[in-house]
Amino acid sequence: MGRGKVYLVGAGPGDPGLLTLRGREVLGLAEVVVYDALISQRLLDYAPPAAERIYVGKRAAAHTLSQDGINRLLVEKAQAGKTVVRLKGGDPYVFGRGGEEAIALVEAGLEFEVVPGVTAAVACAAYAGIPVTHREVASAVGLVTGHEADDKPDSALDWAALARWKGTLVFYMGATNLGVISTNLTAHGRAAETPVAVIHWGTTPRQKVVTGTLRTIVGVVASAALKPPALILVGEVVALRERLNWFEKRPLFGRRIVVTRAREQASELAARLEALGAETIEAPAIRIEPPEDARPLRDAARRTAEFDWIIFTSVNGVDAFFTALAEDGLDTRALAGRRIAAIGPATAGRLTQHGIRADLQPEAFTGAEVAKALAAQGSLVGVRILLPRADIAPKELVETLAGKGAIARDVVAYRTVPDLSNRDAIRERLAQGEIDWLTFTSSSTVRNFLEAVGVEAVRAARPKIASIGPTTSATLREAGLAPTIEAAAHTIPGLIDAIVQHEKL
Ligand code: SAH
Repeated sequence: MGRGKVYLVGAGPGDPGLLTLRGREVLGLAEVVVYDALISQRLLDYAPPAAERIYVGKRAAAHTLSQDGINRLLVEKAQAGKTVVRLKGGDPYVFGRGGEEAIALVEAGLEFEVVPGVTAAVACAAYAGIPVTHREVASAVGLVTGHEADDKPDSALDWAALARWKGTLVFYMGATNLGVISTNLTAHGRAAETPVAVIHWGTTPRQKVVTGTLRTIVGVVASAALKPPALILVGEVVALRERLNWFEKRPLFGRRIVVTRAREQASELAARLEALGAETIEAPAIRIEPPEDARPLRDAARRTAEFDWIIFTSVNGVDAFFTALAEDGLDTRALAGRRIAAIGPATAGRLTQHGIRADLQPEAFTGAEVAKALAAQGSLVGVRILLPRADIAPKELVETLAGKGAIARDVVAYRTVPDLSNRDAIRERLAQGEIDWLTFTSSSTVRNFLEAVGVEAVRAARPKIASIGPTTSATLREAGLAPTIEAAAHTIPGLIDAIVQHEKL
């Protein structure tokens, strides 16, 4: 077996978007990922599903590996021929003990590569609205460990030099030593009025920043009850935060929003909410599965020519239909000459990917409105209509079409089944008052979410509730929950708009 290689990769300080391109590239090659606490799950997802993921963070009480143990693990895996990614917070060589790991690899004669990361000092400061240098106020920046902050003669830190330092000081690992740090700096001559910022969970939706001076900061941090991980910034640049604080000013900063949507589709909603500053909590209320009996859909797909219209009501319906076509060796050409309706822009968009532009895209999505839009295209008497839909799709549309004389064939294209993963975590966070919004994008997400979590847990916690449209709102009301807002446009962007508008009030 050939020898492996170890990549020491900086993961950045928290925001998964701050991983470097090279970091992402080597994660994609990983056979083993060895990672620390505070590494986002998003980054681990860049590794191939089959990669072995080994957590060596400090919080794994029972399994904590010593630094020697971690070094040995890296050496063993590389000697076994594996491509190993050692994923470390921030930059691997800034207080990350990456140097020790690299030395262990060199001593074992193993190949390694370092992929630098965005270190906490610069990233957390930037996200707190603080440039670490500025031509007029700070011409140097010092990165300092606050871990051994005592003032004994053999202290690793030269406090007199630090106090004299003409620039910004950034202390890592100093949260529990804040008092010692500020006392030492002032005792050695740094002005007690020097501005200080403490950044907690920087670059994440949980970021919290407090500011004070060397004199006041201990009291400020105590009353804000900030805990590690935190970074301490000392220097005049801190004063710029008032003008440059962009991150916390985004419209949904810090809001904790539950995204209820089939897992396959949760990412678009979550990504858009996160871009506006929210923390999203995924509650996969439903999972999409193939129908129990696949024959009706395959049969319909094979005999597409017998229909005048095909109405697609969801992205999942489009996917299932084209999969069924492909299983019979057919493709988009099988739909030649059929007229096609798409409900909702996402559905229409998916059809476009198959080279199909819908003939009709009704503006309103309720069954009655869709039937009306179709009837406006011409008499429906004797018109044959295929609807590849969910097993639990409401019957209203089919009944209204039939009422207008159409021969409507409702075919189960996919099933939606409840997905209970994450249920306990959500109940717990609801009970702790840690959920600001629940979002619902269909009646089935309402039913499945409430079936899993329980309506009582929601009522007791009173989160705000966002509904995508009237049908979803009606289902919420039937369950005894009043939507706080209902989207004017019944789409994901419409839903997000409504939440943002409400937050502005
Ligand atoms: N190699 C890392 C630092 C590891 S030491 C880097 O380059 O950033 C761990 C310390 O970094 C923590 O105690 C804290 O002081 C700081 N830190 C890391 N991420 C942080 C974050 N998101 N917010 C605040 N401090 C952070």
